[in-house]
Amino acid sequence: MAESMAGLHRTHRCTETTRAAIGETVTVMGWVQKRRNLGSLIFIDLRDRSGLLQLIFSEEISGKEAFEKAGQLRNEFVIAVTGTVEKRSGAVNTNMETGSIEINAKDIRILSEALTPPFPIEENCNTKDELRLKYRYLDLRRPNIQRNLILRSQVTTLVRNFMTEEGFLEIETPMLCKSTPEGARDYLVPSRVHPGSFYALPQSPQIFKQLLMCSGYDRYFQIARCFRDEDLRADRQPEFTQIDMELSFVDIDDVIDVNERLLQRVFKEVCGVDVQLPIQRMPYAEAMARFGSDKPDLRFGLEIQDVSETVKNCEFVVFKSALEAGGVVRGINVEGQGSLGRKKIDAYVNFAKGIGAKGLAYMQITPDGTIKCPFAKFMQPEEIQALADAMGAKAGDLMFFAADKESAVCNILGALRLELAKNLGILEGNKEFRFVWITEFPLLEYSEEENRFVAMHHPFTMPMEEDLQYIDSDPGRVRAKAYDIVLNGTELGGGSVRIHQSDIQEKMFEVLGFTKESAYEQFGFLINAFKYGVPPHAGLAYGLDRMIMLMTGSDSIREVIAFPKVKDASDLMSEAPSAVDPKQLSELFLETIAPEEV
Ligand code: ASP
Repeated sequence: MAESMAGLHRTHRCTETTRAAIGETVTVMGWVQKRRNLGSLIFIDLRDRSGLLQLIFSEEISGKEAFEKAGQLRNEFVIAVTGTVEKRSGAVNTNMETGSIEINAKDIRILSEALTPPFPIEENCNTKDELRLKYRYLDLRRPNIQRNLILRSQVTTLVRNFMTEEGFLEIETPMLCKSTPEGARDYLVPSRVHPGSFYALPQSPQIFKQLLMCSGYDRYFQIARCFRDEDLRADRQPEFTQIDMELSFVDIDDVIDVNERLLQRVFKEVCGVDVQLPIQRMPYAEAMARFGSDKPDLRFGLEIQDVSETVKNCEFVVFKSALEAGGVVRGINVEGQGSLGRKKIDAYVNFAKGIGAKGLAYMQITPDGTIKCPFAKFMQPEEIQALADAMGAKAGDLMFFAADKESAVCNILGALRLELAKNLGILEGNKEFRFVWITEFPLLEYSEEENRFVAMHHPFTMPMEEDLQYIDSDPGRVRAKAYDIVLNGTELGGGSVRIHQSDIQEKMFEVLGFTKESAYEQFGFLINAFKYGVPPHAGLAYGLDRMIMLMTGSDSIREVIAFPKVKDASDLMSEAPSAVDPKQLSELFLETIAPEEV
């Protein structure tokens, strides 16, 4: 007996009624959050995306028919109610935006009945994720998720406004693209018209946005969906959204400038956070050395210190062999933890081993100054003292040391630093938004797997002019004109100045192991386009989902995406991906092979 909307108009969302005058007649519509029957009075909490509103029904105010209808209401029924705004008859509810008013209901329509939902529709309910995602349409009714998606919409609106003011054009690029094996694995789409050929869904609009610069569009942006078929980690989705941009006739500082102002505007208007400009910049090498990470969380210290020089003559074999093999010895001084128990120290050692460390050495100086250090027996007392001094350690401190190849040590101590901060509760209650630009990334990284250099960012990234001289002799040493923006230890976005000179681009392909033919086969249209007049250009892309996650303080990007997928890339609600009709496959000239046959 669902009723229709005929002749009915919503005048206010629930919380908008606070702006109506007392005594004014309003019509509100939404879902029944709760019903309380007090005999001659029925209270309904009505919910819409703006919040909750209390409605009162009685035979006297509402008439017999409306009162009876109100008596039939159950949670999640969809209703329309017309009534007058009144001051709360009972106690004012200060926890509710509409807590000082209520609606004396004069009329009601039941627009839809509802089954009892499988979990309560309320703030922060602790329903299992699987159930929430199976019934995502109900989960999305919860106020905290609604707030996240509303904030997300505010951010994209602000971005569009800001970019437009700055002279950027919003231009869409294709979803059906050419597959390029460089980078992550592509999602493929079979072509019906070209049997045996496939499109790829874009991993990013990279090549198209560069072509738009060739075509003179000057400043482009797009809120772009991207697809990467990677093994999913907690923080990844197979499809995700980027705020993507590209600018012509610019160098690093121009890109950074416009983006700093964008971040300042968005964080101020959406979160009330003042981002101080300019944002600090830190070269990659410094970030790795001090924080063991190219996305350092600068809200706390626990910095990594190099003690290779101090221990270079010692006989402790762990340090000695690492140094002899060209590695490093580095440590973290955890101030005030000199009395940490053996069990907890072992837990850190095991943590380090769990992420690939061969071991983790430690030294404690108890508050009375006694040194407790399992490797002290392999070193002279003055060497131990020199080590503690080099670490700036005093009575009551604890030090951890890792000795290995530089990259391994950075990795281990970088992760240990975060683990320490978490366990010591260093960031509890910290509301800071700490931004940093990481610059001067290596252009290339050596892939042991592929036995060749691969691009750290992508093959179109411009080397730093002063390092071009090393591109043949020592490619690993060449730094790139690439930059990442990092917030509280999370990479928000990144980009680079692009190569626009064909000789440098050819060199880059050569270093990456492309033959001329293979480079042309994959990127021929870009290489050719550049022959017809290309402006110097640069760009950047943000991960929108991550940005919203940080802004809302959510612990997963699933909380800020309307219809997310789970770890195995499936959608628990629609049950995608699914098998398809053999007819659909034959139209595409495809057959599937059962996994055990592979
Ligand atoms: N396309 C790059 C990415 O997705 C960003 C950029 O260089 O503009 O990471």
